[in-house]
Amino acid sequence: SHDAGGRITRWMGTLTDIHDKKTGEDELRAQARRKDEFLAMLAHELRNPLAPISNAAQLLAMAALDPQRVRQSSEVIIRQVRHMTSLVDDLLDVSRVTRGLVQLERGRVDIKSVLSSAVEQARPLVEARRHTLDLHIGPAPCWVDGDRIRLVQVLANLLNNAAKYTAQGGHIALSVETGAEGVTIAVRDNGIGIDRTMLPHVFDLFTQAERTPDRSQGGLGLGLALVRSLVQLHGGRVAARSDGLGMGSTFTVTLPVAGPAPEAVADAVAAA
Ligand code: ADP
Repeated sequence: SHDAGGRITRWMGTLTDIHDKKTGEDELRAQARRKDEFLAMLAHELRNPLAPISNAAQLLAMAALDPQRVRQSSEVIIRQVRHMTSLVDDLLDVSRVTRGLVQLERGRVDIKSVLSSAVEQARPLVEARRHTLDLHIGPAPCWVDGDRIRLVQVLANLLNNAAKYTAQGGHIALSVETGAEGVTIAVRDNGIGIDRTMLPHVFDLFTQAERTPDRSQGGLGLGLALVRSLVQLHGGRVAARSDGLGMGSTFTVTLPVAGPAPEAVADAVAAA
C-alpha cells in the first residue's frame, strides 16, 4: 500500500541517493584533479635538476677545466642527484605503504635516541637556515614498541618541514611528554603557518599543489602522507595545529608506550 508518507519517504530516499552520488562524483573529480596536479609537479621536480646536472657534466667533459671548477661541477651533480634520489625514494615509499607492503621491523625503541638521530638528519637544513632548535626532553628514557628507522624518518620529516617552512633565523622546539594516551612528540615552529582551509588536508596525499604559500623549497607533498601512514602502522596518530598563516605550526605524533621490558617484569616477579 502506497500511502503519502511512504511515497515521501521513498522520494526523500531517492533525493539522498542523488545527493550522495553527486558528492561522490565531486570527490572523485577532486581526487583526479589532485592527481593531475601532482603528476605535473612530479614532472617539474624531476625535470628541474636535469639542466644543472647536464651543464655540470658538460663542463666536466672539457679537458682544460681547473681543479676548482671540477670540484664545483661535481658538487652540483652530487647535490642534484641526491635531491632526485630522495624524491624517488619518497615516491617508492608512498606507493609501498599505500599497497600495504611496508613491514615494520619492530623492537623496543627509546624515543630519545630516535629524536637525536632525527635531529642529526635535519641538522644540515636547520643550520643552513640559521634556525635555533630547542629540545625539551626529560631525563628518563621513554620506550615504545616500533621500527627505529621508520620513527627516525617520521621525526626527521617533521623537523625538516619545520626548517623548510620557517623563514631564516626561526625557532623550532622539539618536546616529548608521556601522558595517559601515550608518548607525544611535538615539533613546533614559528614559521609560515598553515591556512585554515589547508589544515585538514596537510596529511593527505597529493595535497601540496598551489595551496602552499612558499613553493620555493620544492617538494611534492608526499612527506606528511608518509608520516601519517607510518605512525598509523605503529598504532599511533598525528595531528597538525596552526593559528593560521604567519602564526607557526605544531605537529604532534602520539605513540602507544611500550609495557615494561620482559626483564623488568621478571625482576618484579622475582622480587614479589
Ligand atoms: P612537501 O614539503 O614536499 O610539500 P609535505 O607532505 O611534507 O610535502 O607537506 C605538505 C604541505 O604541508 C607542505 O607543502 C606545506 O604546505 C605544509 N606544511 C608541512 N609542514 C609545515 C610546517 N611546519 N609549516 C607550514 N606548513 C607546513
